[in-house]
Amino acid sequence: MVGASLAGLALSISLARSGLTVTVLERAVEQRNGGTGLRLWGGMGETVQRRDGSGIRVPTIASIASAGVPGPVGWAMVRRRLADAAANEPGMAIRYDTEVVKIGADADSAWARDTAGLVYTGDILPGDDGHRSMVRRSIDPEHPDARYAGYTIWTGKAPCDAAPGWQEGRNYMNMITLPNQDGAMIVGETQTNDEPRRYFWQWYDPTSDNYLREAGALVGSVSQYSLVNENSAASKYADIHRRAAHWPAPWDDIVRHSVRRQSVIATPIAEYVPRRLARGRMAIIGDAAHVPSPVTDAGFDTGLGDAETLGELTDHGVIGEQGLKVLREYEKQRLITAQRMVRSGQGFGDSLLDSANS
Ligand SMILES: Cc1cc2nc3c(=O)[nH]c(=O)nc-3n(C[C@H](O)[C@H](O)[C@H](O)COP(=O)(O)OP(=O)(O)OC[C@H]3O[C@@H](n4cnc5c(N)ncnc54)[C@H](O)[C@@H]3O)c2cc1C
Repeated sequence: MVGASLAGLALSISLARSGLTVTVLERAVEQRNGGTGLRLWGGMGETVQRRDGSGIRVPTIASIASAGVPGPVGWAMVRRRLADAAANEPGMAIRYDTEVVKIGADADSAWARDTAGLVYTGDILPGDDGHRSMVRRSIDPEHPDARYAGYTIWTGKAPCDAAPGWQEGRNYMNMITLPNQDGAMIVGETQTNDEPRRYFWQWYDPTSDNYLREAGALVGSVSQYSLVNENSAASKYADIHRRAAHWPAPWDDIVRHSVRRQSVIATPIAEYVPRRLARGRMAIIGDAAHVPSPVTDAGFDTGLGDAETLGELTDHGVIGEQGLKVLREYEKQRLITAQRMVRSGQGFGDSLLDSANS
């Protein structure tokens, strides 16, 4: 597999539960912080039987991600839960700090080569390598890129009180309360309380294209990366600080607090409606397969569904013709869900851009 972020880790667990030997190649280092706030919709402590013949009951992957409590949670916490569970699976090797630079496949096997020239060979090659996926280029070479949706999302976290959700003119603000490290949502509910409960805000802004282009985060119609406060123009953050006045209290203060603490991320929103999810011995899952607007709150959730489906389909192995059959069936079962999920966020983008132009 290429990529060990949320969808990749979920898939690695799902494949290991079918008894497969799994190697995951991830270019990032093992310890990662930051990221966004997510709403998790499922995983209320359900269990399932492992498919490797052991008969052992284990939590569903959604329950691992949510720790049995669906709702808002920080990205880093979800990643840590999935990474811990994956590390305990038999037959699992996760190689961090390993960037894949080339992939390929023939009738019998698939392979990936890293920057050091090491080649890893397997029966199938799932790509969980995110919105700028390299594996997607081999699956649908004529439709390889997620395209800029025309607006930016500014996100930040702040430890202060606020109320949820507000829309005003051509901007849209969404507020999520994140639990602290103990999972507590209410101040004073935890024993240690070493990390205060925080608010995670998302400001959808259709007016920052030029800034993103000048900073290199947007080239043509392809989003390149997110800008974090430290490597971004101070003048733009002064501008966001000033424009925060636009929001009623207490949201204005929350945004300003994040700007002052240098805890703001600007992400050019990209979207990708897939036409294919598999080709031969390769497949894509998670953001590699479908990139929705964050307003759908569904990117990770759909990646989880991909991981569960693909894992279940590998019950009878992936060697030879069986591997090709599994990936064809995966595409058949997941393509329409993926397309609908991305399209469900496009109406929001259209109305945001319409209001900006009116
Ligand atoms: C502001 C915001 C709010 C969101 N809110 C929600 C929500 O409430 N609910 C929800 O379900 N979803 C939400 N999402 C979407 C969700 O965050 C994503 O769908 C999810 O994080 C994608 O995970 P992924 O593993 O598919 O991709 P990524 O996290 O992009 O992971 C890809 C991984 O592949 C690795 N990689 C890439 N290329 C290579 C290579 N060549 N070699 C080795 N490794 C490589 C990367 O280092 C990375 O670790 C939100 C997104 C945003 C931006």
